[in-house]
Amino acid sequence: MLRWNRRPLAGLEPLLSKRKRLISLNTVWDGYQTHTSDRATQHVAPKSICESEALETGDRIDSTSLSEQTASWADTHNSVKRVLDHLKSKQDTGEFFLSDTVNQKFGEFHRNISDECGAEDKQHSWAVLEKKEAIIMYGPYYPNYNKGEHSEDTIIRQTQELLETEGDPEDWKVYIFTMNSPCLARNTDPCMLKLVHKAQEWWRLYGVKTHIGFVRCWGFKGNKENVFKDISYQQVECINQSEDFKSYVQTAEKALTDADPLCEAVFCVAKRLLKSEPVKEFPLTTTVQKQDRKSYCKSMHTKFESKPEDERKVLTQEVRRVTEAAEVLLSDQTGSLEEYLERGSRFILGHSFASQVCGTLQDEMRLAFQQCWTEMVQDMYAEFIREKLTEDFNHCTIQLFIQDILKITAECLQIGKVELSEEDPNAFRF
Ligand SMILES: [Zn+2]
Repeated sequence: MLRWNRRPLAGLEPLLSKRKRLISLNTVWDGYQTHTSDRATQHVAPKSICESEALETGDRIDSTSLSEQTASWADTHNSVKRVLDHLKSKQDTGEFFLSDTVNQKFGEFHRNISDECGAEDKQHSWAVLEKKEAIIMYGPYYPNYNKGEHSEDTIIRQTQELLETEGDPEDWKVYIFTMNSPCLARNTDPCMLKLVHKAQEWWRLYGVKTHIGFVRCWGFKGNKENVFKDISYQQVECINQSEDFKSYVQTAEKALTDADPLCEAVFCVAKRLLKSEPVKEFPLTTTVQKQDRKSYCKSMHTKFESKPEDERKVLTQEVRRVTEAAEVLLSDQTGSLEEYLERGSRFILGHSFASQVCGTLQDEMRLAFQQCWTEMVQDMYAEFIREKLTEDFNHCTIQLFIQDILKITAECLQIGKVELSEEDPNAFRF
């Protein structure tokens, strides 16, 4: 934990007395009432309020709509449908960047954290408790998936502890940075929903406003999102050939031997993307590891399984040689589908076989390579499209969520994308 004092600490932080806590609670409560005049008529804050009453009354009043809103987001099935419908209809929900002042704060904190701990691109979180007299930075924390822990779990725990122990939280601010936006689907309470409830609680109990900044939109479950998992190369072909869903279903039913047509919403979203941004070039190195890319060559082995033992031995060795030589094709350079297929053809035609691989076996080997290579390139092409769709989907999810949630929590929470300045040498590239 890093602490920067703005002025000497001595005598500055009297621990919160019970009486003071009550007074500050009342103040917070009164402040809340004046800001929400539309709801003020539903409840009048009692003159002598005790802590537990304040909590219960407060919970009853403004948690209702927040709970309703988060409950609807916790219903992942319906929320996914809603996001798809939204993407389909192309309604613009606007951007969701943080305000300039808050973005600037995140930029400064980010520079400090990067100077101390180095820049980091993978998921991590850190937070800052900003007091009048000092700034407390804690983190970075990383997820521990083996224990089922997300980095935000630690942030919530630490923040809670600091708010309870660091003295009178008057005019304090909490800044929470997380590389990926907090998740919206998890086998326990999703971090995003936990955080908005916590922000509301911290506001109500301590009058502390929370700011959440993130760099990438994680949506429900980030790149593990499976809404578009059925979009294969063959599906893309069918979508490209069809003008509308009806004609797509007819085409798909004829063309797809081992897959069902996509549902209408997924078709529409994919069609819109393929029409507006046709894929010209794509990399052969998306999220797939080099090891996985090489698996296309392994599938060549299966083509020779029925061969007699001695031929199979020769062919197995040759597959290994071809695989190694074909490494050169798997460079990081992007290309079009046609270019990759062409590169593969040129490669195998120019390949010099070992002397034991005679005439017909050479032909069989060439054919097997062509088939496996084509399959791999087509898979990568479809993977690229799935990734793009998932990215748009996750972006739209966060957009809709923030739009919903800020209607209720604007006072106690600011949440949005952090824009890190490009001049910052430690800024993440994205
Ligand atoms: Zn999470």
